[in-house]
Amino acid sequence: MSRILIIEDEEAIADLERDYLELSGFEVVVEGDGARGLSRALSEPFDMYILDIMLPGKDGFEICKEIRAVKNSPILMVSARKEDIDKVRGLGLGADDYITKPFSPSEMVARVKAHLKRYERLIGQSPMQEKPVRNEVLEARDLRLDLESHRVWRGGEEIELTQKEFELLAFLLEHPNQVFSKEELFQRIWKMDAMGGAGTVAVHINRIREKIELSATKPQYVQTVWGMGYRFKL
Ligand code: CA
Repeated sequence: MSRILIIEDEEAIADLERDYLELSGFEVVVEGDGARGLSRALSEPFDMYILDIMLPGKDGFEICKEIRAVKNSPILMVSARKEDIDKVRGLGLGADDYITKPFSPSEMVARVKAHLKRYERLIGQSPMQEKPVRNEVLEARDLRLDLESHRVWRGGEEIELTQKEFELLAFLLEHPNQVFSKEELFQRIWKMDAMGGAGTVAVHINRIREKIELSATKPQYVQTVWGMGYRFKL
């Protein structure tokens, strides 16, 4: 059973969220104080977080940032103010979704289910597993990769990738949010000694970005982590 942490100081909203999620079979923990909520988020296992923004103790922006620094589980931000949602987006805090109050509880539940399903599918392929199972299709936002046919779509439009571009993108997407150095990627994809391979990786990353990103200079999927390497941002 998936366990969800709600950090929300308005009791009526917290109760509504809890009731609907419990009815859908989730285990729900509610905290009304930001600081206490964050400390539970960091010390206990949760599969997903639902964060209000204006909170006593610590605001939802800070909580989101601190959770995302150590956890990959989906984060849904809830706010009455559209400006706050814009701010969450602008700051790149790592939230997976946003919903404005007042919201339809069944829509909130539908979004929670969708995020958990996607996340579970992705961690199902984590290298920690002894025998990773390759799902046939990987999805992230409007990007879709079919591992069997090696085909890629963005928002329904097919994108042509070369063999190595596909393997590199699929590898990053199979390990979302993990950072890999150019040398490591070269070793894994080209299976050769990593010496001198960094340039090849950089060239391929640039080509992938030109093909899949809306803006190659502000990539939303394959991001550069300065001084460390690349990651697929989920
Ligand atoms: Ca509040």
